[in-house]
Amino acid sequence: MEIREKLREMGVVGAGGAGFPTYAKLKQGGIDYYIANGAECEPLLDVSKEIMARFPDKVLKGLNHLKNYTGAHSAIIALKGKYKNAVKALKDNLENTGSDIKLFEMGDFFPAGDEQVMVYEITGRVVPEGGIPLLVGSIVNNIETLYNVCNAIEENLSVTDKFITIGGNIKNPITLKVPVGTEIGWLLDFLGIDYQDKVILDGGPMMGNIVSLDSPITKTTGGLLIFSKGHPAVTVKESSLEHILKMARISCIQCRYCTEQCPRYLLGHDLQPSKIMLTMGFRLSSTYIKQALLCCECGLCEAYSCPQQLSPRRVNAAIKKELAVASVKYMTEKTDFEPQEAREWRKIPTSRLKTRLQLTAFDRPALLVDGDFVKPPEVQILTKQHTGAPAVPVVNSGNRVQRGQTIGKVPKDKLGCHIHASIDGTVLQTDTDKIVIRGEESSWKEL
Ligand code: SF4
Ligand code: SF4
Repeated sequence: MEIREKLREMGVVGAGGAGFPTYAKLKQGGIDYYIANGAECEPLLDVSKEIMARFPDKVLKGLNHLKNYTGAHSAIIALKGKYKNAVKALKDNLENTGSDIKLFEMGDFFPAGDEQVMVYEITGRVVPEGGIPLLVGSIVNNIETLYNVCNAIEENLSVTDKFITIGGNIKNPITLKVPVGTEIGWLLDFLGIDYQDKVILDGGPMMGNIVSLDSPITKTTGGLLIFSKGHPAVTVKESSLEHILKMARISCIQCRYCTEQCPRYLLGHDLQPSKIMLTMGFRLSSTYIKQALLCCECGLCEAYSCPQQLSPRRVNAAIKKELAVASVKYMTEKTDFEPQEAREWRKIPTSRLKTRLQLTAFDRPALLVDGDFVKPPEVQILTKQHTGAPAVPVVNSGNRVQRGQTIGKVPKDKLGCHIHASIDGTVLQTDTDKIVIRGEESSWKEL
């Protein structure tokens, strides 16, 4: 089977972001750089660095398959130089196999893992406003995505599990593999983690969002971080959008720090969050509003730059939703983009970010404990865990299914990837947004 078709059928999507289907990124010819994104710049999340340290062979094989398929001139793994174990594991493997894949060691700044920042750091090319790395001859994949690519191509394995870090204000941070569809509340109870009166973030303190206990783990869950209510990492996230907009009107002092430190503005894009805040605060109609489409929601403005604890990130996210409903796209005639001269010295060291968000005490290694020991009694597999169209269920209530079996398919003419049973069991419910599977008795009796 052709690689693109294989990845679509096996459900491989970007594991570190919005779940863009991996097959749809692949293009044959004209690719200079195939990049593996191992920067993992969100504080307290250790998934990528643990996978690189523990399974360097799978990451490198996955990258090699896609480099060969696309005919890319070079393949690079970009990661922070401080990830010593991962650097050593990858270097050893590269030496042993004689591979021509290169390592690119990045500084410890935020957001080193933003794909447009990474592409510029490696290639010196700026991805055009509203564009994708392909426009400058690059393709970027997350580390776990490449691990899944290797599993799909070499072992015919579909994506049934997600690696996540569980950390924050808990005794023992851990990185582990969890069946897709596992309920978050069940998982935390299973691991004996106290979450009473706490806030749970899906993702890191910068880009993550508050989740409820009954939400399922998906193919894009990066981690679960637990904080006390009112902790600086979650205060803005706990505020309603109405409150955020009201505060923008009352408190924005137009200092422009959010703009001057914005990584996309510094790359030369016309994104000025301070102008958007001014426009929203005073309900002006303005051309600045469309600039929100250029925001990658990295959260730097919210967590670090703004002295008034405002959230241009949340405002931009809300505008983007509205513009998406109206099918508004960002259009530009500009073709050349020059980064701001100040870009180099305005990079924000991650250590300062951690101090600002009071995360230093929680910054302990979350080592990966490998194995299939998480056996939930039930899973809820969402039909849309990726960018594109939802999968259409191909099983019915009462059907017995096996782990890895296809349970939902995306029509051939639509963007998207198939979904699979993550446990052996019986289908309890199928509808347009989820498929619920009850596990075999033997799996849950032992808990
Ligand atoms: S979240 Fe803020 S800092 Fe990040 S890209 Fe958007 S406006 Fe810029
Ligand atoms: S940093 Fe905060 S106060 Fe300053 S312009 Fe931006 S939103 Fe307004």
